[in-house]
Amino acid sequence: MIRTRFAPSPTGFIHLGNIRSALFPWAFARRHGGVFILRIEDTDTERSTPQATQAILDAMAWLRLDYDEGPYFQMQRMDRYREVIADMLARGLAYHCYMAPAELDALRERQMARGDKPRYDGRWRPERARAAGLAPPAGVAPVVRFRNPEDGSVAWDDGVKGPIAIANAELDDLVIARADGTPTYNFCVVVDDIDMRITHVLRGDDHVNNTPRQINMMRALGAQPPAYAHLPTVLTPTGEKLAKRHGARGVLQYRDDGYLPEAVVNYLARLGWSHGDDEVFTPEQFVAWFDLDGLSSSPGRFDPDKLRWVNQEHIKRTPPAELGARLRPFLAGAGCDVEAGPSPADVAALLRDRAATLVEMAAAAACFYRPPVPPPGLVAQHVTDEVRPALAALHDAFADVEWSREAIGALLKSTAARHGLKPPQVMMALRALVCGTMQTPAIDAVLALVGRERVRERMRAA
Ligand code: GLU
Repeated sequence: MIRTRFAPSPTGFIHLGNIRSALFPWAFARRHGGVFILRIEDTDTERSTPQATQAILDAMAWLRLDYDEGPYFQMQRMDRYREVIADMLARGLAYHCYMAPAELDALRERQMARGDKPRYDGRWRPERARAAGLAPPAGVAPVVRFRNPEDGSVAWDDGVKGPIAIANAELDDLVIARADGTPTYNFCVVVDDIDMRITHVLRGDDHVNNTPRQINMMRALGAQPPAYAHLPTVLTPTGEKLAKRHGARGVLQYRDDGYLPEAVVNYLARLGWSHGDDEVFTPEQFVAWFDLDGLSSSPGRFDPDKLRWVNQEHIKRTPPAELGARLRPFLAGAGCDVEAGPSPADVAALLRDRAATLVEMAAAAACFYRPPVPPPGLVAQHVTDEVRPALAALHDAFADVEWSREAIGALLKSTAARHGLKPPQVMMALRALVCGTMQTPAIDAVLALVGRERVRERMRAA
């Protein structure tokens, strides 16, 4: 049974680059009928906040990245970590180290002065301490270190990067518990991945240096390490790592800006993975097509224009009834009284080929619900003395023409002809009067939807 996890740290705010790391383990579990777990890694108590945790939960819910287990919280598992540390000490897999921070700094400086990589020298390994006659100093609280293998190397076949091998001589004995007893990050991940029986770890490649240490700890604990795949970082269009200071925005900002969750999933999936030339796909297709072979080894660049385009494609493909339901809150947000106008489904049907986001669609739909506010001069520019008589005739004829797009369209043409005008002259004037803008879909369809009485009212008001 495949078991994967998304293990975010609730620090700062969750942006698109962060949530992308949830997509692949989710899709992999779903594809294989496995289990997807959410684990909140909140052991950095200085930087973790309940708001950040809530934003993660909300983002997962909005994107419909459903999980089968969790959320687990590492802070609720402290007893378990302490138990494992005690067990490792008892079995000689870990040991107490009494080296003071100042001593360690001095050692590092000497190593760097020699041109060596700074690393802890293992002096408190029990057999070495004994041989060197070191005795635990009184009154010093020790840290606990993992006894990393000294020989050989640790290797894995990374699902994205291919085979990786690291000599154990490169790895020093990692601190797994601080002097105050709190377990460290790499250690908690290992205990959790074992306890949660994770079979595949798909995570950002900022963790690739942790992997050899984690594998060594797993093996020492008698566990079979999971398969690992490290996803390349998401970069900004100019090549920086996507982060708040480079303009990254929170995931939920996209929800509020009228992006569809399936479009965001689609775009983010494509940022690290591909399926032939398919650019636009549903979450169901993503799951059906997902495999580790499609993961890319080069960093994706976040392109806001491309995301808009993908969103627009999804809007076009969403059935009007469904799109209308999603548009409704945005109409309300734009100050429209939805009950006082056409059904959002009808509005969505008319506008769905023209809007890149639901916010834009709601803005374009406002004239269906309330009188327009044309920019200064627009009405005067189009409602000229030349077209006025035709508009007056239309106003009267509108009173009893059959109120359908076709009948209205025919009436516009015949009235224009009778007044010696070109149809666009009349149509432009109506756009200005009824919509307050020239950017509208076909005016006959717009008038049909705005409604007979409202159209006539707006014509009279001018
Ligand atoms: N908590 C880590 C992070 O947010 C992820 C750790 C992991 O996936 O192993 O970067």
